[in-house]
Amino acid sequence: MSRIKFIAGNWKMNTNKASAIELAKAVAKAAPAGVEVGMAPPFVYLDAVGAAIAGSSVLLGAQDVYFEKNGAFTGEISIEMLKDLGVKFILTGHSERRHVLHECPALVGKKAAAVLAAGLTLVHCVGEKLEERDAGKTLAVVQAHLDELPATVVDPLKLVIAYEPVWAIGTGRNATDAQAQEVHAFIRQALTKKYGKDFADRVRIQYGGSMKPDNAKGLLGQADVDGGLIGGAALKAESFLAIVNAGK
Ligand code: PEP
Repeated sequence: MSRIKFIAGNWKMNTNKASAIELAKAVAKAAPAGVEVGMAPPFVYLDAVGAAIAGSSVLLGAQDVYFEKNGAFTGEISIEMLKDLGVKFILTGHSERRHVLHECPALVGKKAAAVLAAGLTLVHCVGEKLEERDAGKTLAVVQAHLDELPATVVDPLKLVIAYEPVWAIGTGRNATDAQAQEVHAFIRQALTKKYGKDFADRVRIQYGGSMKPDNAKGLLGQADVDGGLIGGAALKAESFLAIVNAGK
């Protein structure tokens, strides 16, 4: 089964308006064919970044969302608002939302279900903390994060799983190729149990956690690694594009 790789940048709470536009334009100008490229800037720059990449193949993404349609939810952003700005994919369950902002599994699951129901692409992040890996709980934690997904999903191309070991995010310590492949294969098996083999074979599973130009080729060369979710290295066009090109 050949899956087109999906490489997405998660800019987190970085850039300003001018640097966001500059970065977006530089990536859009050089994004190659043969790989799907996305970027998730801070909410407040989505409009400007959307305009900067208009007409290119680069997909606009959001780092978070709220599951309700509208109403009295101060500070929150709905899926319709994001759609209005041209957003095509939305992250849920990122480790910083789970562990820094204390989002619970029930909330993550509601967000994930709402994104899928709205027909947008969901990038659902899963992954263990270092103490969980050391205690041999990696696969159980990943399974619990996958269990947050709804029982039925219609389109396998609209579901992306990002395996992001928490100990590898922003630390400069990436998972080895073998560690990544082991968990990715487990994820595909779990998706097969839940949604069937044909479906699971078409779902992209990204690796995230200190992916850089010098380790991208090895990670992206693994059988079940279908792309990357990139934090730090996505903040410079040169390093992000080097990773993108490694995924071609
Ligand atoms: C991320 O936050 O999704 C991430 C993978 O960050 P970094 O690439 O900086 O480790």
